[in-house]
Amino acid sequence: MKYYFGWAKDDEIRERGANGGFVTATLMGALETGLIDAALVVKKYGIYEGVPVLTSDTEVVKESAGSLHAAPLNVAKIIVKYAKDMRLGVPVKPCDARGIIEQAKRKQLNIENVFMIGLNCGGTLHPLLMREMVASLFDVQPDVVLKEEIREGKIIIMTSAEGLEERAIRIDEAEERGFGRRYACKICTTKIPRMADMACGNWGVPREESHLKTFVEVLTEKGEALLRNAIDGGYVIVEEAPQDALDKRNRTESYMQRRASYWKARLDVLADSERRERFEYYIKMLKKCIHCGACKEVCPVCACVEDAKCHEFCDESDDHIVSIFNLIRILHLMDSCILCGQCEDVCPVDIPLTYIHRRFSERMQKKLGYTPGMDISQKPPLHETKLLWEAE
Ligand SMILES: Cc1cc2nc3c(=O)[nH]c(=O)nc-3n(C[C@H](O)[C@H](O)[C@H](O)COP(=O)(O)OP(=O)(O)OC[C@H]3O[C@@H](n4cnc5c(N)ncnc54)[C@H](O)[C@@H]3O)c2cc1C
Ligand code: SF4
Ligand code: SF4
Ligand code: SF4
Repeated sequence: MKYYFGWAKDDEIRERGANGGFVTATLMGALETGLIDAALVVKKYGIYEGVPVLTSDTEVVKESAGSLHAAPLNVAKIIVKYAKDMRLGVPVKPCDARGIIEQAKRKQLNIENVFMIGLNCGGTLHPLLMREMVASLFDVQPDVVLKEEIREGKIIIMTSAEGLEERAIRIDEAEERGFGRRYACKICTTKIPRMADMACGNWGVPREESHLKTFVEVLTEKGEALLRNAIDGGYVIVEEAPQDALDKRNRTESYMQRRASYWKARLDVLADSERRERFEYYIKMLKKCIHCGACKEVCPVCACVEDAKCHEFCDESDDHIVSIFNLIRILHLMDSCILCGQCEDVCPVDIPLTYIHRRFSERMQKKLGYTPGMDISQKPPLHETKLLWEAE
């Protein structure tokens, strides 16, 4: 059996969880039985801020239950920095999992130590744009919102703890009006994290039960170990998911992928441009760079350290119109950029970095037949080339 409906046995965890608290209960079980040393979860500060927390305290894990859609973080670099050699349980969106896999390929962590509990992902919103959206589309003061949810293609906000004062807008409508998900999420086609150890989400669960049950797909031996541990320890309850639930989940995934293709085409502002126009666009955007280095710091794929080539050009003494720093990064990441949008989120001068990386990486990855972050056994082609040069 591979597909389940699962939920936390404990009523409090079930209630706190986004869809029945299966993920939280599984992590708590893994900690208490010693299957993992620590969990990396997202601590909430209201609905617009989530901070990754590394903990072995099950109470902290319990408090982190629930999904935050306006916290577009990526945990790959955090694992490398703080938990390299720990056995770790971590809820991951597809782009988290892909970053972790790329870091493992670059020998920054041991993938065998990381238990990836995948979360399906329809997308995340930038916290600032979410606030603006709440104010202008919902006509609600952003700070009075107590809860948010994404359900059946709608963004829903609640301004009373009991969920009585509920307002909703269709994501498609919000996005046509310039709000909604980040650019990276609009164009993202990897919605179910099948590269993780298990994939969890509400797609496929009957509507009336969706806050009480998670659809769980077990994908690897580590995923089986997590599930077995949680069942045997009495942390979760599971039942076999019926075929029609799986069909429904697949249909939703296909719909989301079609929407991503739509946005990919729609937001490709250089699609029909002449070479000169493209050149001018890149110059216009990239010359705004102030050499802060933040994009490299957060990139979940980049594994270069302080003496990286691009760093030599990440300062004001690089007085070219377009910083060499940016050009090196574009070249260096062409085979492996996962289009997660982390660089763009932190850029203080709002350079559309995801789109610019996409312009180069999409074509290169197609040519090389390489999709980063999917398969640990596939080596990054340009990384290998560098090693060959070094060997020579
Ligand atoms: C941003 C986001 C978008 C999602 N979109 C979909 C979707 O479109 N369709 C679908 O089927 N499922 C989606 N999910 C998964 C779904 O919301 C539930 O996480 C999943 O069904 C498991 O429910 P649960 O009750 O078992 O999880 P819980 O027990 O509530 O545990 C959730 C865990 O996720 C962690 N978490 C919360 N926010 C984030 C975040 N922003 N980034 C990383 N980790 C986080 C928490 O720390 C917690 O440990 C999404 C999840 C997130 C975080
Ligand atoms: S890039 Fe994809 S996986 Fe990552 S947050 Fe956006 S939609 Fe989710
Ligand atoms: S370059 Fe930007 S979009 Fe690409 S993987 Fe790095 S942070 Fe993500
Ligand atoms: S985050 Fe933006 S401003 Fe900072 S180095 Fe990167 S491109 Fe330049």
